[in-house]
Amino acid sequence: MLHDHGSPANPDVQLDPDVFYVCQRCTACCKWPGDVRLEDHELPRIADFLGLSEDAFIARYTRLRHNRQGLSLLEKPNHECCMLDGADCRIHPVKPDQCAGFPNRWNFPGWRDVCQALPGPTPQS
Ligand code: SF4
Ligand code: SF4
Repeated sequence: MLHDHGSPANPDVQLDPDVFYVCQRCTACCKWPGDVRLEDHELPRIADFLGLSEDAFIARYTRLRHNRQGLSLLEKPNHECCMLDGADCRIHPVKPDQCAGFPNRWNFPGWRDVCQALPGPTPQS
């Protein structure tokens, strides 16, 4: 399936060092069916941002990934991510690396057909 949402974002690697695609907040990637992967180190910061204990956050907003090898954010019945609120991400400042890394640090063949991100200047680190 084209919209395989399972690739982990790699925070250290940009696929094309000469181009940085700037998200246009179309929210398409928040609506694809599949896992929104949560890594263990991300749990405390997201729970804290939401004012929850880590256990409460896990119980309320997560499920096992389809491969049962970790946690994913829950989805709504229409497959949107549970953190999508209109056009906004409720946890934008602390969103998972999978979300922050697309499409510059991971993507898939044909991603430009379904993502409206536009080439822009590469951010200086
Ligand atoms: S699909 Fe692309 S442009 Fe749309 S929200 Fe995701 S990264 Fe941004
Ligand atoms: S956590 Fe935020 S950015 Fe990631 S899929 Fe959910 S709504 Fe989109």
